[in-house]
Amino acid sequence: VWKNCLVFIKDNIQPQAFKTWFEPIKPVKLSENALSIQVPSKFFYEWLEEHYVKLLKVALTKELGESAKLVYIIRMENTYGNKEPFTEKIPSSNRGAMAAQEMDVPIKSKNPELRNPFVIPGIRNIKIESQLNPNYNFDNFLEGDSNRLARSAGMAVANKPGGTSFNPLLVFGGVGLGKTHLAHAIGVEIKDKYPERTVLYISAEKFTQQYIESVKKNTRNDFIHFYQLIDVLIIDDVQFLSGKSGTQDVFFHIFNHLHQNGKQVILTSDKAPVDMQDIEQRLLSRFKWGLSAELQSPDYETRISILKNKLYRDGVEIPDDIIEYVAKHIKTNIRELEGAIISLIAQSTLNKREVTIELAQQVVEKFVKNTKREVSIDYIQKVVSDYFEMDVATLQSKTRKRHIVQARQLAMFFAKKFTKASLASIGSQIGKRDHATVLHACKTVDNLAETDKQFRKYIDDLTKKFS
Ligand code: ADP
Ligand code: MG
Repeated sequence: VWKNCLVFIKDNIQPQAFKTWFEPIKPVKLSENALSIQVPSKFFYEWLEEHYVKLLKVALTKELGESAKLVYIIRMENTYGNKEPFTEKIPSSNRGAMAAQEMDVPIKSKNPELRNPFVIPGIRNIKIESQLNPNYNFDNFLEGDSNRLARSAGMAVANKPGGTSFNPLLVFGGVGLGKTHLAHAIGVEIKDKYPERTVLYISAEKFTQQYIESVKKNTRNDFIHFYQLIDVLIIDDVQFLSGKSGTQDVFFHIFNHLHQNGKQVILTSDKAPVDMQDIEQRLLSRFKWGLSAELQSPDYETRISILKNKLYRDGVEIPDDIIEYVAKHIKTNIRELEGAIISLIAQSTLNKREVTIELAQQVVEKFVKNTKREVSIDYIQKVVSDYFEMDVATLQSKTRKRHIVQARQLAMFFAKKFTKASLASIGSQIGKRDHATVLHACKTVDNLAETDKQFRKYIDDLTKKFS
């Protein structure tokens, strides 16, 4: 159809004009009487409308009849939405999704008074691709104590976007605890309930890139304008904005506009607002307007159900004791939890081995080792004091009471074992002792470990807490 249109158009205009204005157009789809064409920019669209509307109309009517419709898709390139694949895992069918502004403009108007049927106010219908990952939904976001508040706040927002006091909704928590998943789930649910609303998911990093690009291209106002069109704006990892005052500034304006117009804003961050650094005060205070909900590390039960759910969805069966083993050893990060089970399944299929506890041990060990963060001396002192039910000041004190001396020596021993700190540094941090004291402590602990059963148990118990 488009080819035939072009032939007709070519015959009727200057070759140079044809080259400039019609060659760059890409036909995108044809459904019944509506042809969608992609144009490189908004300016392009406006030019076409101004100069070639009649020609287009005639050409299209010839092909599709009186009821022909033309839909412009304005390509946003990197400036606004983006056409690149998601950074998160996404099924291939969604790859390459791009943000586009579509304008439905009927060629044939029912209203004969309208001279230029291409520009009928109110009929324009702007569509923006949401960039949502449908695999991240509420159904597979399992509930537990660790996420109950954030999850139900998310549900509430999804039921009434912009209509709750949770605006903005800020979800915060450590790495791999489900912030991105929950953010998508809210968007997916809103799209499901309110298909006509414009939802946009974007990482703070992409947002920043787009902003910088817009400054370069002198299209900062277009950038702001684009974001002000959105009904539900989801920005992931806002901690990325720290120190970026230009982006913060533009986001501040967009935020105010959306908020004032009852639009919903959803943010995620790896820190609570109070702990965010290098974010402007006025922006931080906006973040606190709504609700900040934390995603905590999942408890054992939740870890088990996440694993079981994952296996069930993948159609894989693994004995319970192995699931329990994995859930017991990988505690603080759901992504790692999933990673371990996936690699376990992979190993067993590749090597045609049964999934045994031994295999699970190997896999888990690798995961724990690779991701183990160094514990701090402060943390060690805290854990040891807690274990012996004393406070850290007591542990560090000069007293010679036997159980306190032992606790202190254990803290030194673990500091040597689990940190890279020097003996001197350990000594100075644990109650201002010198390096000889620390060395002596380590030897004492080693000796007692071999001779004293009770003491051995202390070491074992505490070792588990650090690994
Ligand atoms: P974050 O953005 O906080 O780093 P993600 O949202 O990327 O974490 O989550 C990491 C992985 O854990 C994802 O694969 C996600 O699907 C999974 N996950 C997180 N929370 C849950 C949950 N409550 N139920 C099921 N899967 C979860
Ligand atoms: Mg994330």
